[in-house]
Amino acid sequence: MVSVFTYIILMERKKAVMNIKQLYVSDWLVKYSTKDFEEMFTYDADDLGMRLEGENIVLKCWSPFAAQMELNIYLSGEENSINVERIQMVRREKGIWQIALEASGYLNKYYDFTIVFENIPKNGSKAEVTACDPYARAVGVNGKKAMFIDLTETNPEGWDTDRNPNQSMAWNDMVIYELHIRDLSADLKSGIKNRGKFLGLIENGTYITDGMEKFKTGLDHIKDLGITHLHLLPFYDYGSIDESQSYDENKYNWGYDPVNYNVPEGSYSTNPYDGDVRIRELKQTICQLHQNGISVVMDVVYNHTYNEEFCFNKMVPGYFYRIGADGVLSNGSECGNDTASERSMVRKYIVDSVLYWAKEYHIDGFRFDLLGLLDTETMQEIRKGLDNIRPNILIYGEGWKLQTVLTKKNMVLATQEHVSEMDRVAMFSDNLRDAIKGSVFEETEKGYISGNQDCVEAIKISLMGLPEWADYPEQVINYTSCHDNYTLFDKIALCNKEIDMEERIRQNKLAIAIVMLSQGIPLLHAGEELLRTKMNQQGEFVSDSVRDGDDVNSIKWETLLQPEYQNVYRYYKGLTAFRKNTRVLHMTDPAEIRKAYLFAETGNELVICFKAVRNDEIMIVVFNADEKTVEINLNALFVKEEKLNGIFEGKKYQCYINEQAADCKPVSATIYDENDCTVEVQAQSCMVLKNIQF
Ligand code: CA
Repeated sequence: MVSVFTYIILMERKKAVMNIKQLYVSDWLVKYSTKDFEEMFTYDADDLGMRLEGENIVLKCWSPFAAQMELNIYLSGEENSINVERIQMVRREKGIWQIALEASGYLNKYYDFTIVFENIPKNGSKAEVTACDPYARAVGVNGKKAMFIDLTETNPEGWDTDRNPNQSMAWNDMVIYELHIRDLSADLKSGIKNRGKFLGLIENGTYITDGMEKFKTGLDHIKDLGITHLHLLPFYDYGSIDESQSYDENKYNWGYDPVNYNVPEGSYSTNPYDGDVRIRELKQTICQLHQNGISVVMDVVYNHTYNEEFCFNKMVPGYFYRIGADGVLSNGSECGNDTASERSMVRKYIVDSVLYWAKEYHIDGFRFDLLGLLDTETMQEIRKGLDNIRPNILIYGEGWKLQTVLTKKNMVLATQEHVSEMDRVAMFSDNLRDAIKGSVFEETEKGYISGNQDCVEAIKISLMGLPEWADYPEQVINYTSCHDNYTLFDKIALCNKEIDMEERIRQNKLAIAIVMLSQGIPLLHAGEELLRTKMNQQGEFVSDSVRDGDDVNSIKWETLLQPEYQNVYRYYKGLTAFRKNTRVLHMTDPAEIRKAYLFAETGNELVICFKAVRNDEIMIVVFNADEKTVEINLNALFVKEEKLNGIFEGKKYQCYINEQAADCKPVSATIYDENDCTVEVQAQSCMVLKNIQF
């Protein structure tokens, strides 16, 4: 039996742990995007969260509707750690709450906030909410509590002189490799000790051997491949992994479920309990990657949060999301909520966060998840802010058009069709991706490499780096596969059920050749160079392997012991080297490109032949997606195209890429000239010639 007294206490507590949704009151929601609210409560200064000022810690947070705010202090960062002190915070202008503490007494201690809301319209008079600091720089296990930290103490040796090794590299000189941290080292055969950790990305000297020959794994493999930028799937603190579990108990997740935007994920550190460790290990990893010539791109997910318990949303209920006055959340992200980037303090939060990673962690590029849900003004502010930190920080994202309900008029979403309205923001090209291998949404739809003639025009346009939405090639990320959807090799199998391994490999090689020979910025899905497959225990290919564990997701290093996999790997490596050494593939001006490219009529819909010229360099490319070998007299072909006179007039050519090999040096001794200008291009393969320059 429950006494009346106990009942009252339980009711009080129930009110205290009120579901955040109960605090979405229409009176507040309708105000958030108004001019009045923004004028009254937009806080511009760059000092939210904690910072060290002399001997003090100064802590500030933003919660305009709070009636009271308390700071709770803990000795450790676990969810149920004991609250050892409560301190009233002081209300300042613009909805800011502030407190100053003596640093010596509080550094390395943990904290969160209790926010008291009073006179809540409709939903009762009072509610209490506990929230972590949205600007937390360090957190305890599972990101429940923030930690007071002196960040200078987390800098590894060499941090002061740490630089992006590719600082002044043109965007179209980059080769990006998209990797989930865990996938590189989860396979025991990788030889990497720090399995699934940040530190697993920087172990040198790992290899796999058949007893005769050694094949590089991990970092050495990536370096050998020749990539310039390592794009890592989310590594801010996310919510779907229980950090308190050991590596093997841990469930796998990609991490598109942000919890603490400004803190590294704990499961990638060797100790998620101590707020320092993950920060130090991530910085050490970035520093080492830089020393190995590799720049780091961070996958950032500002378009939605893990759930509505996100601390910012608790401090200002309903402010962070696009919510109608009826309390219904916009859900273009299909992750439960859409971030209201158009609101001044959300925009500030996103901009502050990106700039913080660039400054504090020396991040060289950002990949924006569902960029099309953010607005162009936010992206412009990010661009400007990054340019003030360092020149040339890379920005790209998914400019897909999604259904979302903006809370302000005259806002423009950062989709492909609005790419022109932003300065130096690149976007993934689904045009090339789907033209190469068929739509990612239609499992069995074939692309050009599998003999679909309808894709030829899209391939030609993409080869010039000019899909209809783009103004110039450096706005275009070219790829055939990434973490989403089936891997390239699996997609080929799914839409060509009858073909054997050999033919799948031919199509795969043709696919990557098209990517690497296109104007724009190439991106490789990690493991694609090892014919990555994602197959579950039932023998089915897995499309979105977000929760499928290491067995499905890890890069399987043992495949490197098989000659056909070695051949594919060398092909990817050779294409990378060829691309780097061929200036004609790095053009920026669309007018120059249109002039430089000439497509010849081959008489076979599935055979694309073009030449591209830049200064003294001439490249001739033939893609043959037909199932039979074709023979082409290049001289006759191009002479027929009257516009082009005598590509062979006194010029000699050599082959750099054929069905077998690709390299920055010729792959065969054959010299092609006026007398010998017939090339034989094998079924489902490509051939690339370049003129011999003296
Ligand atoms: Ca986490």
